[in-house]
Amino acid sequence: GAKKQGGNTYQFYTSDMQADSVDQLALESSLRRALEREEFQVYYQPQVELKTGNIVGVEALIRWQHPELGLISPATFIPLAEETGLIMPIGEWVLKTACAQTKAWQTAGFSSLRVAVNLSCRQFNQANLGESIVEILNNTGLAPQFLELEITESVLTQNESAAIKTLNKLKLLGIEISIDDFGTGYSSLSYLKKFPFSTLKIDRSFIRNINTDARCKNITMAIIQMSQKLNLKVIAEGVEAAEEVFFLCQHNCDEVQGYLFCRPVPPEELEKLLWKGKRLPIPILI
Ligand code: C2E
Ligand code: MG
Ligand code: MG
Ligand code: MG
Repeated sequence: GAKKQGGNTYQFYTSDMQADSVDQLALESSLRRALEREEFQVYYQPQVELKTGNIVGVEALIRWQHPELGLISPATFIPLAEETGLIMPIGEWVLKTACAQTKAWQTAGFSSLRVAVNLSCRQFNQANLGESIVEILNNTGLAPQFLELEITESVLTQNESAAIKTLNKLKLLGIEISIDDFGTGYSSLSYLKKFPFSTLKIDRSFIRNINTDARCKNITMAIIQMSQKLNLKVIAEGVEAAEEVFFLCQHNCDEVQGYLFCRPVPPEELEKLLWKGKRLPIPILI
């Protein structure tokens, strides 16, 4: 590439930028084929109830094992899938897989296990979302109250009245809705009264700094208290330290999820944890 400073400026694409767009294209076409080539997997991360220390739910998190590039993070390919529309078939595959797996675990004896599935903007805004979910529930046999859909605040801010309609429809079907990464988006507190959802997930950026930053501590405390007053379930995301659990117990947070207890794992490993009855040691508060 070349650049000239002065009266006239010429700008060429640098070879780096070209490489990036080539990479992007290559990634897009391999993303297009990844479903048929069965390169995706769903991992599961336990959600633990703080009253008992038991695993009460799992969050389904997609993984892409690329034949040449290895494991690619969803943070990289989900935005690309969203842009290209490929999120529709991919998202449907995740939903089916996660519902079928959870039903199998319920049948094996973990009868009240719940599953949370992330929904992108485009999926949430699809015209036949309700019908498509009902079909998946019917086909897999999972009862609606065991499915929780995670959406972010940005999904709600785009078209409020459409979002309220969709949420009401899902609620009527008996499906739970949770707000992911709560506290990082642009939604206002009035959203808490406008939108029918059942769960708030406190973003990791607050939890991570609970013990070093008084503001994060106080914001976390306030979100928990507010959730209790509004009859919402509250989950802390990204819990990595025992002191964080201590604090969250003290303030009666409902559930925790994070590396401290378990990373997202393949279904076989999650199943082992269930059979072992793995529990989180709950601190005794005096
Ligand atoms: P998310 O829904 O907020 O998921 C939580 C992310 O935090 C996951 O990253 C999880 O592995 C990670 N995490 C969990 N506990 C800890 C912890 O203690 N410490 C740290 N540092 N990280 C922790 P992951 O699996 O890479 O997913 C990233 C994001 O990609 C998700 O954020 C979600 O927005 C999106 N995503 C993943 N799977 C799907 C999917 O099936 N559909 C859609 N639409 N989005 C998905
Ligand atoms: Mg999530
Ligand atoms: Mg999150
Ligand atoms: Mg997140």
